[in-house]
Amino acid sequence: MREIIVAKEAGFCAGVKRAVQLANDSLEKEPQKALCSLGPLIHNPSVIEALGKKGMSVLSSSLGEEEISKLPQNAKLLVRAHGVSKEQYALLRKHELDILDGTCPHVIAIRKIIERASDEGEPVVILGDKGHAEVTGLMSFAKEGTVVSSVEEVASLNFAKPFTVVCQSTLDSSTFEAVTKAILKKYPSAKIRNTRCQATEKRQMEGLSLCEICDAMVVIGGLGSANSNRLAEICRSSGKATFFVTDPAGWEPKELSGFLKVGVTAGASTPQSDIDLILEKLRALV
Ligand code: SF4
Repeated sequence: MREIIVAKEAGFCAGVKRAVQLANDSLEKEPQKALCSLGPLIHNPSVIEALGKKGMSVLSSSLGEEEISKLPQNAKLLVRAHGVSKEQYALLRKHELDILDGTCPHVIAIRKIIERASDEGEPVVILGDKGHAEVTGLMSFAKEGTVVSSVEEVASLNFAKPFTVVCQSTLDSSTFEAVTKAILKKYPSAKIRNTRCQATEKRQMEGLSLCEICDAMVVIGGLGSANSNRLAEICRSSGKATFFVTDPAGWEPKELSGFLKVGVTAGASTPQSDIDLILEKLRALV
């Protein structure tokens, strides 16, 4: 008999759950409004498709004057968990648009640290992926600052005054440790704030623990979901056979037939319905 162990920390994190809930509530309670998400609400096609069927459309993550002028009169703009830039908020407010803010409270907390540092005249360094929506949005709240993605990039920092360091919420711990160590070596008085979100960390740690006791791992997540891809990568790095399932409906569990103990986990943007579907298929496997 095959044993299936499901991670306790699998699927939607609190920030994603909240954003999806806001979308569903709005579609249900205000059907007369045209709900538009600024960028894909989450990196999961089945959720986006389901919300699309209920009436939500997806626009660019940063609207310009021209796009705003084409919005329907009854538009309601949903800001996703990553947040948007200071300039985008200003533009939306200038046009008196109806905004539903799904920015994750954790991202808002990082934003406040950046604003406080800027008010005190300090530059801000954000550790993370250049061009990632969360990082771009956060940086817009700094009066002066830069993004650092690797230890090598620390060499190009050139500050003559105290500065604050924060990081993208989903940055992995090894990159955070390595880059902050290099910064402190060069600038011992740098103010380091560990703003990593525990949701990602917990999924990764639990995934690794499951790898220790299972014969194979199934990781469920959208192809475009960075945290799901990373979770699969981490499980694979343990040496255990890891199956990254990006299309739960089309997935055939046959490849798991030779494994007796199977661990199942899912990225922070994977809905419970996708996890349930995979479990159903695994349980039906003879
Ligand atoms: S991973 Fe953390 S910061 Fe990002 S949306 Fe989820 S709870 Fe918020």
